[in-house]
Amino acid sequence: MTPGVTPLVAGNWKMNGTAASLGEIRDVCAGLDHKDALPHETLLCLPATLIERAASVAADSVLSIGGEDCHPLESGAHTGDISAEMLADAGATAVIVGHSERRTDHSETNALVADKAKAAWRAGLSAIVCVGETREERESGNAENVVASQLAGSVPDAMNAANTVIAYEPVWAIGTGLVPSGDDIEAMHALIRRIMTERFGSEGEGVRILYGGSVKPANAKEIFSIANVDGGLVGGASLKASDFLAICEGV
Ligand code: PGA
Repeated sequence: MTPGVTPLVAGNWKMNGTAASLGEIRDVCAGLDHKDALPHETLLCLPATLIERAASVAADSVLSIGGEDCHPLESGAHTGDISAEMLADAGATAVIVGHSERRTDHSETNALVADKAKAAWRAGLSAIVCVGETREERESGNAENVVASQLAGSVPDAMNAANTVIAYEPVWAIGTGLVPSGDDIEAMHALIRRIMTERFGSEGEGVRILYGGSVKPANAKEIFSIANVDGGLVGGASLKASDFLAICEGV
C-alpha cells in the first residue's frame, strides 16, 4: 500500500453475468455495508447490459459500478460500440481501458487506449488503464520496457490521481492461477510509481496502482501488503460475492 492513498478493490466480470447474477451484487452490497468505515473503495466493472440494473441495486451502498471498455467518441455511426457517456448515463463511475483482452482480441494500440482514457474523463468517469507484459516478454527480460512504453503511450498528459487508476496485470497471470513473486510485483510497482512520479509529479505519487492477475482470497492479503500495491483488479474471483468480499478483507 502507499501511505495516504485510499486503496481500491475492483472486480472485472468480463463477458459474464445476466439478470441471474444480480443476487451476487446484492450480496456484495450487503457484505460491504455491514462494515463501518471501510479502508478501501470498492468497484465492480460489469458488462454494459448489467450496468443500469447493478447501479440501481447498489444505489444505497458503498459499491460503485463501472464499465469494461468504451469507444473514444461520444456518439455516432459505430454499430455495437458504447461511449463513455452511455456508461455514465447507465450509472457507471469508472471504466477499464486497455485490458489485455481488448489489446489482444481487438488489436487495441496504446494510442487508442489513451483516447479511451480521455473519453472516460470527458464523460466524468475515472479510467482504469491496464498495462502488463506477456510471458515471452517477461522471459526475454523485456517486461519493464514493455510496461514503460505502455504507460508512455496509454496514459494521456491530463491524468491526475483522481481521474486515473493504473492496473498492472501481467498477461500470463490473468486467469491462469499463476502469480508473480512478491519481489517481482514489488519491483514492477516501484517502476510504475517512479515513471508516473517523474512524468506527473505529485499526481503520479498519489495515483493508485492496482495489481491484477489471479488475485484470490488466499493471496490477496499478501499481495495488498506489497509497497505501491494500492488494491487489486480481480477477474474470476469477483464473480462470487463471497470470494470478492473475502478479497476485500485483505486490504
Ligand atoms: P483474473 O483476471 O483475476 O481472472 O486473473 C484479472 C483481470 O483480467 O482483470
